[in-house]
Amino acid sequence: MYLELWWFLTVPVFFAIGWITSRWDRKKNRGRKQTRLNDLEKLVLFLTEDNHNVAIKLLQGIIKDYERSFYLQKALGILFRRRGLFDRSIDIHAALLSVRKIEPSLKDSTLIELAKDYVGAGLYDRAYQALELVEGEDYKIQVLQLRLRINQRLKQWKLALETLEDLENYKEIKLQNLRIHFFCELIENGNVDYKEKLLEINSNHKRVKHLMLNQKTFPSDGGVFICNFCAAKFDDFFWKCHLCETWDSCEQLSCEKH
Ligand SMILES: [Zn+2]
Repeated sequence: MYLELWWFLTVPVFFAIGWITSRWDRKKNRGRKQTRLNDLEKLVLFLTEDNHNVAIKLLQGIIKDYERSFYLQKALGILFRRRGLFDRSIDIHAALLSVRKIEPSLKDSTLIELAKDYVGAGLYDRAYQALELVEGEDYKIQVLQLRLRINQRLKQWKLALETLEDLENYKEIKLQNLRIHFFCELIENGNVDYKEKLLEINSNHKRVKHLMLNQKTFPSDGGVFICNFCAAKFDDFFWKCHLCETWDSCEQLSCEKH
């Protein structure tokens, strides 16, 4: 009877220990949640500041707690690409595509990211293949824009004209300035059949006038040419920036300015 009473008295003690432990765990979880939230807030700040190196390190730490997060993995891949670490971004985006039961729209958006990785790495065939696997209409414009970018990088001007037409039809807009440049590129490469079409479109365009006068280059006068979009500087005139690939962004700096 004495023993039974003793055990009876231990019940409130165990109850108290359990209560204290659960409080402690709750406090610990709250602290962990707060730390994660702080890390996510810092991540947003670093991304806003374009501080990609620190953002990558922080995101790699956060992902350890959210290993199954598709979006965080995808974001890490994008950050690696922005730092020029294409092999790592390709690995991450390719791995995400092997996730079972991936939603069709997530699959398409990841294929777009993978295609961008391949473009960055200069693997254009693979980029094209990735784009061919995109099925949904939601990403059609991005697919066409990336194809157009690849066509231009590879100087496939006839193919670029076809892609441009698809893009125009899909977006219901006219991109005549690009067409003019593509025609000019073709003519400069010996496809003189495009001269007539070019003049029909716009004979007053700066490049068209330049081409029709058979001028091969622009005089530099010893100045420097700057891209007014990305501020890259070059010694020679350009129609399309060699760095950011923007057309008609060339401005000549006077000798005093630079
Ligand atoms: Zn540029």
